[in-house]
Amino acid sequence: MNIKASSATEPAENSAGDAFDLIVVGAGVGGLTAALVGALTGQRTLVLEKSATVGGTSARSSGTVWIPGNAYQARAGVDGDATVALGYLDALVGERAPRGMREAFIAAGPEMLDFLQSRTDLAFQPYPFAPDYRQELPGAAEGLRPLEPLPFDGRALGRHFHEVGWPLPELMLFGKMMITRGEAARLLGLGRSARETVQGMALGARLVTRYALDRLRHRRGTRLVLGNALVARLYKNLLDRRVPVWLGSAPTELLRSGGRVSGVRAMRNGIPIELQARNGVVLAGGGFPANPQMRERYLPSPVPQYTAAFEGCTGDTLQIALEAGAALGPSGEDNALWFPSSVFQRKDGSTAVYPHIVLDRAKPGLIAVNAAGKRFVNEGVSYHDFTRAMFRAHGETTCIPAWLICDRRFVWNYGLGAILPRTLRLKPHLKRGYLHSAATLAALAEKIGVEPAGLAGTVRRHNEYARGGVDAEFGKGSGVYDRGNGDPNHRPNPCLGPIETPPFCAMAVYPTPLGTSLGLQTDEAARVLDKEGAPMAGLYACGNDQHSAFGGQYPGAGAQLGLAMVFGYLAAKDAAMHAAGG
Ligand SMILES: Cc1cc2nc3c(=O)[nH]c(=O)nc-3n(C[C@H](O)[C@H](O)[C@H](O)COP(=O)(O)OP(=O)(O)OC[C@H]3O[C@@H](n4cnc5c(N)ncnc54)[C@H](O)[C@@H]3O)c2cc1C
Repeated sequence: MNIKASSATEPAENSAGDAFDLIVVGAGVGGLTAALVGALTGQRTLVLEKSATVGGTSARSSGTVWIPGNAYQARAGVDGDATVALGYLDALVGERAPRGMREAFIAAGPEMLDFLQSRTDLAFQPYPFAPDYRQELPGAAEGLRPLEPLPFDGRALGRHFHEVGWPLPELMLFGKMMITRGEAARLLGLGRSARETVQGMALGARLVTRYALDRLRHRRGTRLVLGNALVARLYKNLLDRRVPVWLGSAPTELLRSGGRVSGVRAMRNGIPIELQARNGVVLAGGGFPANPQMRERYLPSPVPQYTAAFEGCTGDTLQIALEAGAALGPSGEDNALWFPSSVFQRKDGSTAVYPHIVLDRAKPGLIAVNAAGKRFVNEGVSYHDFTRAMFRAHGETTCIPAWLICDRRFVWNYGLGAILPRTLRLKPHLKRGYLHSAATLAALAEKIGVEPAGLAGTVRRHNEYARGGVDAEFGKGSGVYDRGNGDPNHRPNPCLGPIETPPFCAMAVYPTPLGTSLGLQTDEAARVLDKEGAPMAGLYACGNDQHSAFGGQYPGAGAQLGLAMVFGYLAAKDAAMHAAGG
C-alpha cells in the first residue's frame, strides 16, 4: 500500500506530543463524521490516516446513506417511519444483534443528520424509489430511507483535492469522470424519445465539457458525486475548521491511564510519537476486508481472494484494541457484507474487481448458473443476498465461481460487469478471459466447464418463463426490488427475457467482501466493550471497526454508511459528554 513518508496536512499543524481531546483513527466516512462532530462539539480533534489519501472504501462507494425517519420523509408526507423501520430491522436482524443497538441507530439517525446539516454544508437528497432489500419482511420501504450525497466541486479543496481517494476506475467514465446512476440512465436514455434524446445529449455535453476543462489542470474530473462527494465534503469541513488530518500516520498502541484509554503511541512520517486524547480515541479503520490472513480466519470457505474495499482496511485497528483488552462481537453467519464481483487484469497489471451491484443481474435475459448449469437464486436479489446464495449453493454443487449467462444482444443493451452498454468490440474482453463467448450454448458450456445438458435445459425453461412473464422457479421480477432494477420498457416482466440470439456469453463472478461485519463489540454509545462486556472508558469504534449493529444483515442501500455516520456521531458526542463531566 502506498504510504506517504511526509503527510500532506491542514493549515494549522499540531506538533507531535500535543494533547488532543479526541483522536480519530481512519479517515473514511465513519472517522470523518466522528471528527467533524468532535470539532463541532468543541473538542480539539485529530485524525490519523495511515494511507496517503482520505476516504478509504467510503471514497469508492456509492455514498448512499440509509437513515429511516429522516426529515426528507416528513417533507414527503411520510410520518412515523422510525417505528416502522425498527419493526423491519427486528424482523431482519432478530437475535443476531442486541435490539438496543438498532434502537440507538434509529433514534440517532435523524438527529445526526439535523446536527450536521444545521452546522455545516453537508447535503443530501432522498432517493424517492430505492426499495429496501428484503421486501418480503414487514416494514420494508420502497424509498426515501436511502439518501444520496449532493455533488461536490473538488476544486473547492484546492491543493487538498489530490488527497481524496479515487473511486474504482471501472465505475467512472473514461476511467476518470464520475457520474451518478441517475445520470448514466439519462445518458443511456438517448434514442428513447425525442425529448429524452435531447436532454441526454445536453447532459452528456455539459458533463464532458466540464471534464475536458478539468483535465487541463487535474488528473481526474473534479465534479465529485456519490461516496467521493461525501468524503470530500466532510474533509473540506474539517479543513475549514482547522482540524488536523495527518496522512501517513497510524497508531501502534493504545495508551491507558486512570482506568481510561488516554491516547495512542503512533508513527508519523516514520517517527514514533505519543499523543494524548483527553476524551477518547475513536477507531474507524474500516474493518479487515483487505487482510488476507484475517479473511482466511474469519470468512467462509472458499476464502475470497479479492475485495473492492480499500487496501488500507487491514484490521490493524482491531488488533491494537484486542491487545488492550477489547472483545470482538460474536462470529456471525459469514462475518462480511458481500458483492458478487467479476475480476480481470487491467492494462497496468493491477487487478480490477468489478462489483455487480444493480446494473446487470436484474435485467431481462440474464441468468446465473452453477457448474451443473443450474440456476440457484433469483438473479435480481440484492448483491449481499445473491452472494450468500452462492455460498449456500456451493455446499451442494460448485457455485464459486458462478456464471452469468446471457446473449450478445443483452451485452449490447445493458452491458455486463465492466463492459458498458453499446460496446462494439468485445475482443479485448474475450482475449483477457473476462468474457467468454460461443456460437452455441453447448460450446459455451464446454468453454467454461459447465455441464452442457444442464445449461441447455436451464436456458430452455428460463426462455419459457420469459415468454410467459413468470419465473416459476425463483420468482425473478416478482418483487419491487428486482423489478426496480429491471428494464421498465421490457414486457411482460421487466426482469425476464429470452436468451436465444447467438453468440452466447458468460462471465464468472466471485464472492467479494465490500466490508466486514465482525468487529469490536460496542454499546449503544459506540463505546468498545471488554471481554467481560464492560465499556472501556475512552475507547470508541464506528464504521466497519464496530461489530455490525445489524448482525451482518443488509437492510437496504446505504446501511453501511448509515451505521458509520450514526455511530461516529454518537461516539464523538459521548466523548464530548465526558469532557463536560457527564
Ligand atoms: C464499490 C462500493 C460501493 C459501496 N457503496 C455503498 C453505499 O452506497 N452505501 C453504503 O452504506 N455502503 C457502501 N459500500 C460499503 C461502504 O463503502 C463501507 O462499508 C464503508 O465505506 C466503511 O466505512 P469506514 O469509515 O468504516 O471505513 P473506510 O471508508 O474504509 O475508511 C477506513 C480508513 O481507515 C484507514 N485505516 C485503517 N487502519 C488504520 C490505522 N491503523 N491507522 C490509521 N488509519 C487506518 C484506512 O486506510 C481507511 O482510509 C460500498 C462499498 C464498495 C466497495
